[in-house]
Amino acid sequence: GAGGGYLRASCTVDLDAIRENVAALRDRAGTAEVMAVIKADAYSHGLVPVARAALDGGAGRLGVAVLEEAFALRAAGVSAPVFAWLATPGADFPRAIAEGIDVAAYSVSQLEEISRAAAAAGAPATVHLKADTGMWRGGATGEDWPELVTAAYRAEREGLIDVAGVWSHLACADEPGHPCTGRQLAVFAEAVDVATRAGLRPRLRHIANSAATLTLPESHFDLVRPGLAIYGLDPMGPDQELSGSALRPAMTLAARVVQAKRAPGGAGVSYGHRYTTARETTLAVVPLGYADGVLRSASGLGQVMVSGRQYRIAGRICMDQFVIDVGDDPVAPGDDVVLFGPGDHGEPTARAWAQAAGTIPYEIVTRIGARVPRVYV
Ligand code: PLP
Repeated sequence: GAGGGYLRASCTVDLDAIRENVAALRDRAGTAEVMAVIKADAYSHGLVPVARAALDGGAGRLGVAVLEEAFALRAAGVSAPVFAWLATPGADFPRAIAEGIDVAAYSVSQLEEISRAAAAAGAPATVHLKADTGMWRGGATGEDWPELVTAAYRAEREGLIDVAGVWSHLACADEPGHPCTGRQLAVFAEAVDVATRAGLRPRLRHIANSAATLTLPESHFDLVRPGLAIYGLDPMGPDQELSGSALRPAMTLAARVVQAKRAPGGAGVSYGHRYTTARETTLAVVPLGYADGVLRSASGLGQVMVSGRQYRIAGRICMDQFVIDVGDDPVAPGDDVVLFGPGDHGEPTARAWAQAAGTIPYEIVTRIGARVPRVYV
């Protein structure tokens, strides 16, 4: 297997692809800076290796969801600017301040908690104010926004915070032409105006995810926050695939055949016998299952490649393994099985798996479990 030693299964991550994808996104972003979104263990590609590759590719900043992810970056010696945007009451804001991690404020009460931490630390917190522009997830809606920016202005004057940014998130950027997007951009522009009129001078206005970075230049402002696209995956919805995109998928998920054996026609395969062989055939056992992130909903639908040919999963995906029906093909123990990869050698893609499993490529990659060794090339 890749990487030299024996591998039952492997999740290979091509860091050159990450570097090139970030460079391509930087081109797309024009004068806007790129914050590479590497939450959730860099969408399961590996937090620290991806952080370094993204910085090499020209990302100026790193974005994560929770503070623990930001602390892990600092512990690994990553000193680049990091923004962590999801904190509950009691989060370790003092440590975030000490480690120079930018945080988000969604509400006045959260801003007060951050300010208290800054007062105790004797150093200001770098804060990005979150406007809810129409997703109804986190952030202050138009009604609460004036109070939040006024409180932020006061805290800034007291030296407790530095308001570096005003930001939001788009709900429907993966569906080109969705009316929600234009409305959100207008509400965002108004929120920036209100902040400016309140005396704030946010240097970083940001709202664009991957889909918006790739398709909506008017959403770029000062900074874009692509996640999925840095891993080379197309963020657009089903039937909205980007054409001519320069992105290259970085992840390949593969395993090696455990056993291959002949079975007669009429053999019921795997739990519940949801697959029955049509005639005498060879069944091969592949050692990856739903505990590794091979979604059970792809049972009977997902396809894999062995020696350049694709085979459908026979019956249910189990916790650690699944079965394929390879007919009379000479598949043997130890043979490589590619579940998904860039797609340029005839293997299925994460997008194809997403369709088979009834989900999105985000879930296909983020579910890959810790039991699968990561191999960096
Ligand atoms: N910004 C925020 C706040 C997010 O939560 C995410 C991830 O969902 C992203 C940016 C990146 O999104 P995407 O992976 O679609 O580019």
